Amino acid sequence: MNDQHFLAISALQHYAYCPRQCALIHLEQAWAENFFTAEGKVLHERVDSGVAEQRRSVRYERGVALISQRYRLTGKMDLLEIEAGASPILRPVEYKRGRKKAEDWDRIQLCAQALCLEEMRDIEVTEGAIWYREQRKRENVLFDAALRRTTIDTINAAHQLFETYITPPPTKKRSRCRACSLFDICSPIAFSSDHSSSYITDIYES
Ligand code: SF4
Repeated sequence: MNDQHFLAISALQHYAYCPRQCALIHLEQAWAENFFTAEGKVLHERVDSGVAEQRRSVRYERGVALISQRYRLTGKMDLLEIEAGASPILRPVEYKRGRKKAEDWDRIQLCAQALCLEEMRDIEVTEGAIWYREQRKRENVLFDAALRRTTIDTINAAHQLFETYITPPPTKKRSRCRACSLFDICSPIAFSSDHSSSYITDIYES
């Protein structure tokens, strides 16, 4: 398949978590609601329902549409903070239901929003934030060179997935499967005990 279409920014978080999860959701259109996804949906509906407001020197815009021609991304920002000044500071803010993670999954999604914003407004976006509802904590995120590199690598890898159109095998990091809403659809355990694919690969590769 020729990957001329645009990726949903949310697919990057899915890809970083587990490429198979990304393929099941975005290629195969599989989706299963569990407690966590339902709670996350309610949270985003609440966030999206708000209107723009001004508090002192900061303007808050909600549900801002995003696009990048360069990276072929589309999506929506939960919140855009615009701090007034000679050079206004723009910060994307993402709301998450869970807790701050050591891994970059959420930060990659946020950084992709920043890349879109930079292209759309021809500005530099150096920082953003993620609000974790369960912890009631805001994590400030700097879009440094390392995070930008990781984000661009994830964008490229996700586009490649859409080009090949092949759903990858389950992640080897099985602890991630416990919180995955697609566990039943994915069947990672049955997949590991099914050796037919490696058998066929062996036939053709020997
Ligand atoms: S169950 Fe595990 S392998 Fe399957 S999609 Fe979810 S995280 Fe990936």
